[in-house]
Amino acid sequence: MSYTGKCIYINLTDGTHRMEQTDKSLLQDYIGGKGLGFALLDKLAPNPNPFGAENPLIFVNGPFTGTKIQTSARSTLVSRSPLTGSIQDCHCGGNFGPALKRAGYDYLIITGKSAKPVYIYLTDEKIEILDAMNLWGKGIFQTNDELVKAHPGKNPRIAAIGQAGENLSKMACIGIDKHRQFGRGGLGAVMGSKNLKAVVVDGNTEIKYFDEEKFKKINLQFSKDVLDNEGVKFRRVKGTMKCVRSGQENEFLPTKNFQKCTYDEFEGITSETARKELNWEDTSCYNCAIRCSKWARWDGHEIEGPEYETTAFLGSGCEISDIKEVTISNEICNDLGLDTISAGVTCSFAMECFEKGLIEDWSGLELKWGNAKAQQEFLKMMVKKEGVGAIFADGSRIASQKIGKGSEEFAINVFGMEISGVNPLGCLTMGVSVSVSDFASHTRLWCTEAEMGSDFKIEDIPIAVVDGQNEINARNCLVICDFVPLGLDRLAPLLNAATGLNHTENSLREVGARITDLARRYNLRNGRKFTDDILPERFFREVAPSGFMKGKVLDKEFFNELVQKVYAIRGWDEKGEPKKNYENMGIKINEKK
Ligand code: SF4
Repeated sequence: MSYTGKCIYINLTDGTHRMEQTDKSLLQDYIGGKGLGFALLDKLAPNPNPFGAENPLIFVNGPFTGTKIQTSARSTLVSRSPLTGSIQDCHCGGNFGPALKRAGYDYLIITGKSAKPVYIYLTDEKIEILDAMNLWGKGIFQTNDELVKAHPGKNPRIAAIGQAGENLSKMACIGIDKHRQFGRGGLGAVMGSKNLKAVVVDGNTEIKYFDEEKFKKINLQFSKDVLDNEGVKFRRVKGTMKCVRSGQENEFLPTKNFQKCTYDEFEGITSETARKELNWEDTSCYNCAIRCSKWARWDGHEIEGPEYETTAFLGSGCEISDIKEVTISNEICNDLGLDTISAGVTCSFAMECFEKGLIEDWSGLELKWGNAKAQQEFLKMMVKKEGVGAIFADGSRIASQKIGKGSEEFAINVFGMEISGVNPLGCLTMGVSVSVSDFASHTRLWCTEAEMGSDFKIEDIPIAVVDGQNEINARNCLVICDFVPLGLDRLAPLLNAATGLNHTENSLREVGARITDLARRYNLRNGRKFTDDILPERFFREVAPSGFMKGKVLDKEFFNELVQKVYAIRGWDEKGEPKKNYENMGIKINEKK
């Protein structure tokens, strides 16, 4: 089967480790990736301090990771987030997950705290905890280069933190192979709190399949259908940046800290402009022929990207229309280890505070809309927690609590997490989705298309959110890239042939619902309340330019009704607490379809 059957626990406090069999009792119900990671976190650390030794970092693969299935690069990291206090999963492409599987492990669980900076070297032959004093204080790019040099091995792959993680910024990410990230929720700071600079994985373990012949046959047709898909061909040319134009045309492009849904200067940051100005070349994660990734090379800069979300926040969100400047800001974040979504939204929030004169001393920064150089200085100051940067270093929620003066109304986060690249003023469905999710990320559901179609009605929002989130949860267990355009009906037979598990489209939806319930219970236990399932005040005060609310101001009572309908479909009570048996929900949702 495409699991390795092994896992490893490492305790950094005493430097011990133990290998175990993968917990098979969890595989049918939670599969891998997000589901398995959540089940393990719930079991191991139901109520950890995010920066406590007991909070584990769970690097967990899915049964598809590292296999011959298209986009099998993807892998997952699970922990409790210091940014929100919620259960957190991050998904990443690149090569780290496949390398962890080649090292022989389905998951790696790191607990404890080292007394001094260390890194982990894990292969199919050995496990070492090594001194990282000479790496501490360095950026992700240099750390990666030095570790590859120190451990040439077979094909080493590296997860590392930069100075943001070392300084415990709650916006810190973990860089994978320099240019990919476990981005959201501040898990780079969890790694920093353990004095863990990096994890190097390498190996040569062969991946096997439960039914080789059947798998080969199903996978051949699957690959063909993925690559023949017209949407995939379009994505290959445009990358995720295609959403800049579509966001502008459909009026959901976050602009000027979500004050607007369109950006007059948007042509400066489109996919077409990026291809020309940055000399884009198509590239990809491990085993992916979709090749949505782009490699930028100009004037001595070499960087992957930028991606849409990064551009929406470091670009239009701050009214910066020069794609090269946006890419330089992206490069700064990737090297220092800052999540570009949280950092970008926090920067646009700071620009609005600057405009409104809410802080007296800006440490010499002219943080005006459109000032790219000031933005780049500000990003560095946030990481160093220096001058005015110290106020914003942990994201928009904490900054607004320090600043006060009504700034909470335009600190664009849901329960501490800066929301992702769709302005809810232009797409109410996304507004509901980010409000009821385990955390407010685009990886929970991307549903901008909903409000573009004439068949979709406002009363369809709750069922669409529930159904969509269940499906994405299931995909995040396998783990497969969101950009594969085939559904659970095609993924279930592939999963069964690879693993010997017994799943159908319906049972995968049940897995998605089960994980949502688990996450909800975890978050309620750790401080979230149903009253936190709400958008920032800005979205209840300003007239929507498009979508269902076009020309109107969103009524909070009506929004809460939509949230209550989501609860009801899920079998949660009016306080958002799961009550029903999740198994029934998957069936009910599918009957509705
Ligand atoms: S589609 Fe893009 S993000 Fe997904 S695996 Fe392929 S290159 Fe990576």
